[in-house]
Amino acid sequence: MREVIDGQQRLAAIVNFFDNEISLPKSSANLGLAGRTFNTLPTKASDRFEEYSLDFSVISDADDSEVRTMFLRLQMGVRLNAAEELNAVAGGMRNYVNTVSALTLFSSRAAFSDARGAHRQVAAQSARLAIAGFGDVRKKDLLEFFASHANCSPDAKAKLLRQVIEWLGTVFDERDPFLRNRGQTVPAIYAIYSLWPDAVFAGQESAVKAAFRHLDEEIVGDGPEVADYRLALAHSSDQKRSLEVRHHTMLDAIARWAPKLPRRDAQRLFSPEERAAILYRDGGLCQAKGCGLAVDFASFHADHVVAWTKGGATVLANAQVLCAVHNLAKGSS
Ligand SMILES: [Zn+2]
Repeated sequence: MREVIDGQQRLAAIVNFFDNEISLPKSSANLGLAGRTFNTLPTKASDRFEEYSLDFSVISDADDSEVRTMFLRLQMGVRLNAAEELNAVAGGMRNYVNTVSALTLFSSRAAFSDARGAHRQVAAQSARLAIAGFGDVRKKDLLEFFASHANCSPDAKAKLLRQVIEWLGTVFDERDPFLRNRGQTVPAIYAIYSLWPDAVFAGQESAVKAAFRHLDEEIVGDGPEVADYRLALAHSSDQKRSLEVRHHTMLDAIARWAPKLPRRDAQRLFSPEERAAILYRDGGLCQAKGCGLAVDFASFHADHVVAWTKGGATVLANAQVLCAVHNLAKGSS
């Protein structure tokens, strides 16, 4: 059994509104919707109401005194939301999330506003999934995640996530309705992140955009294929079970409408035989422009000319000798 501790009246008002028992206030005149009941709204407006998701916290196994304490805390004034509380946790993960949430995907592709740190929250939720593993991304989970990663500098997973978010920023040309809320943007990011090690996404921007477009038509329309997705988006959208449904819907959309993504060459390292062949072919010299440093077998770097992370294959034709300095220089560019 569940009981509403705070927000009973607001919930009742929402339910009554969807039941057409109350109408929008006169003050909504500037939208041309003043005094309308839900069933008289234009579809575009009623869709926005139906797609809007509410955040809530659930406490379980609480005794009366805990419930009273919670109620008092809730009445103490305007609480910080997740993004605002997260921003108060200093440290490496906070800095990482702030940087990532300023990338193009958020600054000029997301169709939801950054009011009250919504972009940071999406970045934080994506980071929690990518770096700490699939799970709940409620405020308390994110706070724990930030606290436990306060002293870390970005690891390989964090770098990969950043790369995915940078790439997704090139998929869309402008603020895109597909990225209209947090609940749809987080699983979109995570789906690409989870496929990235196996598929080559560079050059596949329009294919992936088309897949998202097809999916969105089903979501916005009455497509029965995505009824589970719609339900998941409307309920507990920060919880693992809801995320799982949405994640699988995204993967399924990419499989259905972008089935020809090139597979990545699973082999990233050159074998000793290949290394020997590369060193011999390049005359034992660093191939970086203007370098020509003589290197030996033990210390030279067999470099992918087209980076492996961009789909470059692990074959001699895509290999070159680099000295340590130029390998590092290339890696950080
Ligand atoms: Zn060099």
